Amino acid sequence: MLEVKDLEVRFGAVHAVRGVSFAVPEGPFGLGLVGESGSGKTTIGRAVMRLLPVHGGAITFEGTDVHDLGRRALKDYRRAVQVVFQDSDSTLDPRMRVAATLAEPLRAHRVVPKDAVGARIGELLSDVGLEPEHARRYPHSLSGGQRQRVAIARALAVEPRLVVLDEPTSALDVTVQARVLAMIRRLRDERRLAYILISHDLAVVEQLCEQIGVLYLGRLVEMGPTRELLGSPAHPYTIALRSAVPEVGVRERRRRIAIPGEPPDPASPPAGCAFHPRCPAAVDACRTTTPELRPVRSGHLVACHRAEDVMSGRAPIEPVPAAEQTAQR
Ligand code: SF4
Repeated sequence: MLEVKDLEVRFGAVHAVRGVSFAVPEGPFGLGLVGESGSGKTTIGRAVMRLLPVHGGAITFEGTDVHDLGRRALKDYRRAVQVVFQDSDSTLDPRMRVAATLAEPLRAHRVVPKDAVGARIGELLSDVGLEPEHARRYPHSLSGGQRQRVAIARALAVEPRLVVLDEPTSALDVTVQARVLAMIRRLRDERRLAYILISHDLAVVEQLCEQIGVLYLGRLVEMGPTRELLGSPAHPYTIALRSAVPEVGVRERRRRIAIPGEPPDPASPPAGCAFHPRCPAAVDACRTTTPELRPVRSGHLVACHRAEDVMSGRAPIEPVPAAEQTAQR
């Protein structure tokens, strides 16, 4: 349905995204994009929504390049592909009651006849676990979780086929986050939705996505089916991210692996593999030659010179000693 090929986005001299390719089929399907801040994941989401100019590559939706869409076709695209941002406070109009917020897209896209708008608003509220009385409320009288549910209901109002979920739960506390994630999973199955879930949290993505792409400094460094990628990660960065995910029902706790240092300045990325200054497995080639994304197993792609060594344990990635872990918390 959606195909991103060799995407490149620049901000001035800074390459925010480089050579990123992936595909999203018809739903129900979830693709998770994970990485630290500055990894390019939000930029990719905005480029897919056509909220940013792209400087290379292509984004096609059902075979048409979305950057070639005229006004009419763009309106159709914006109906088919919706976005939910992290901060619902900035996306909900504080002067509009919830009912008006939901009625607006229903009318703009003529989703239902005029006399059916009220009933559809009730259905949308029910879909996201809100009560009919919430329709009369203004955003300031709702909790953060309720506002995020309204933002999701508004995205769903136009019956999209693909939703870009940009950190949809990171501003919520843990209990509310779990409820919103369960709701996303239910809606995805009921509505056969496809989504791109952008998150810094591998645990969130693990719950909701069939496929994961790991980004570092604007490039995909690992990509594959969730079970395969988390079961046998082949990039040292993914291993470190995975080690921070608390496991439920697993006897042996994973030992946490800290990534030393900060992500480098994207305006002057390191030569070779951009991860080499922080990588415990780096060798000389890593400092001079950029690793290409290549298959290590069927559907599992990795950009690391030592992927095979990492997978076999010949390039051990050392955990941080327990005492240091405690000190870092
Ligand atoms: Fe580490 Fe080298 Fe692999 Fe980069 S290419 S992740 S520096 S081992």
